Amino acid sequence: MNKEIAIDGPAGAGKSTIAKKVAEKLGLIYVDTGAMFRGIALYMTEKGIEGSETGKIKGEINNIRLDIVYENGEQQIILNDENVSKLIRSPEISKAASEFAQVPEVRERLLLLQRELAAKRPVVMDGRDIGSKVLPDASVKIFLTADVRVRAERRCKELIEKGEKVNIEDIMSDIKSRDEQDMNRKVSPLIQASDAVLVDTSSLSIDEVVDTIIKIACDKNPDFI
Ligand code: C5P
Repeated sequence: MNKEIAIDGPAGAGKSTIAKKVAEKLGLIYVDTGAMFRGIALYMTEKGIEGSETGKIKGEINNIRLDIVYENGEQQIILNDENVSKLIRSPEISKAASEFAQVPEVRERLLLLQRELAAKRPVVMDGRDIGSKVLPDASVKIFLTADVRVRAERRCKELIEKGEKVNIEDIMSDIKSRDEQDMNRKVSPLIQASDAVLVDTSSLSIDEVVDTIIKIACDKNPDFI
């Protein structure tokens, strides 16, 4: 049985925080696929291209080189030799990433990269279509979710800690519209794979979620123990 863990779920469910900790505890590599979509969105928006301009996107997609490297265990996204790991975290890029993620050529390009990374070493990979499309044979699949208000509150707290001004209603509406776009797109929509275990984190602490996932993983595949 392989040692791949796929974690999917809506925006702000805590996937990256949880996936990173699960990976650390189990000695696996953490791959944040959302950061790859964000990298493409940053490149395109810097060129003045919008998510609806499929012709231009197709024309530019092969000029993008995305490299994933690790610094002190943290995933870094290198876009054409520039480390853009911080630049991709703005609310504008979150919104744009969800728009570019609807374009089949963008998804195909990233699918190859994601599968290449998983083929090298056992991974915990998080995103929207990991269990359903990218790693359909992953031995462990988790669908991580939480009530939308809880997700918005968590996001607000993170932003406040970074010194940013926030409005919970705006954040909630961004999360809802991103989820709607991600769930309703034609290619690889956000979906709970039929063999994924649903974990609702609304009333759980980070450590409780991590422990829950590790237990699910060890029960499914004793090689994780
Ligand atoms: O996970 P994160 O919020 O960083 O992802 C940004 C956007 O990238 C998502 O809203 C989604 O549209 C897209 N995405 C995707 N498939 C993935 C990961 C992210 O469509 N596997």
